[in-house]
Amino acid sequence: MNIHEYQAKALFEKFGVAVPKGAAAKSTAEFDGALAALPEGPTMVKSQIHAGGRGKGLFKEGFKGGVKFCKTKAEARELAAKMLGNTLITAQTGPAGRKVQTIYFTVASDIKSEYYLAILLDRVTSMPVIVASTEGGVEIEKVAHQTPEKIFKVIVDPAYGLADFQVRELVTKLGLGAQEAKNASKLLRALFKLYWETDATMVEVNPLITTPAGEVLALDAKVSFDDNALFRHPEILALRDLNEEDPKEIEASKHSLNYIALDGSIACLVNGAGLAMSTMDIIKHFGGNPANFLDVGGGATREQVVHAFKIIVGDPNVKGIFVNIFGGIMDCNVIATGIVEAVKEVGLRLPLVVRLEGNNVVAGKATLAASGLTIVSGDSMADAAQKIVKLVA
Ligand code: ADP
Ligand code: MG
Repeated sequence: MNIHEYQAKALFEKFGVAVPKGAAAKSTAEFDGALAALPEGPTMVKSQIHAGGRGKGLFKEGFKGGVKFCKTKAEARELAAKMLGNTLITAQTGPAGRKVQTIYFTVASDIKSEYYLAILLDRVTSMPVIVASTEGGVEIEKVAHQTPEKIFKVIVDPAYGLADFQVRELVTKLGLGAQEAKNASKLLRALFKLYWETDATMVEVNPLITTPAGEVLALDAKVSFDDNALFRHPEILALRDLNEEDPKEIEASKHSLNYIALDGSIACLVNGAGLAMSTMDIIKHFGGNPANFLDVGGGATREQVVHAFKIIVGDPNVKGIFVNIFGGIMDCNVIATGIVEAVKEVGLRLPLVVRLEGNNVVAGKATLAASGLTIVSGDSMADAAQKIVKLVA
């Protein structure tokens, strides 16, 4: 689960990570109240969407920049009105962009230097890693590619926690002065505590800055959490913004279905994540494009299959459906019954190719045959994939 910058900054404050003062507004009526909480002077107006690259983003309506500097609060108010409700397209949103539904006003800091700081899980050592760089404010992927020597990493053994010598190593490598190093050390410890205690999967601060006064502040904040640990953090779950999620994915999560919307035309209904991935691959291989990833799981019930079917046919981009089931734990007849039931409810106006194999396959095929539905059956995965690609062409 992801949260907005303004929510992440509130969490930062709670843990003692220094941030410039800020306030959020969800409507123009809230602008004055939010701005009243800030001192008069240079103010940043920041579009809140779950995607980075906002500063360099472009609004569909023609206006440039989702993060803007303003000399006064009055100017900030005017700019915010131009952003709110409009659609921001950044390198991370895809061409459709994201509608800005919240504005964050924050004090514009006097920047001496910009740095990069992140904490995430290192998959090689299976331990948290702190990644820092002197090249802040730019795309870290570029830095990693062009000047990897400017990126520093410290692996934190969870049995010992973040040690003082590791904090010193980081601030030294970043080349910070005495006052800056002191503030940065405090920030590093607080940020690590936040990462650890909230079950975050990633905390990224880009840029982290120093000011001429020696302060060290997080100017941007991106935090993602482990979905499987949210049950023990109700206060974090409450920050979930459904506006930022695909309605189809929200519906799927209500029924414990592993569904991810994609932009192709062939809907897939599959059991098992590995089979779901190879189903998408084989569709591509034969020249088609998958409309989704959908794994109904090994223990799917008839009701879940009905919901899954409804979600995939509810996608207006879908031109055909490919059901690919390898019944191991899954009973093929549960899938077949679910499909027939769903079709009875919502109708079937699209070509449907089914490949069933494994546990109780004979009963499953009999259920489909008895339903009277026009179903194309595939003998193998390749055969079925070719058939559906042809039918949607
Ligand atoms: P994004 O990464 O989505 O573009 P940022 O929050 O990093 O958004 O903002 C883009 C740039 O705007 C930053 O790299 C920084 O240079 C500037 N900026 C952001 N917040 C502030 C602030 N409070 N004071 C001064 N400059 C800021
Ligand atoms: Mg940033």
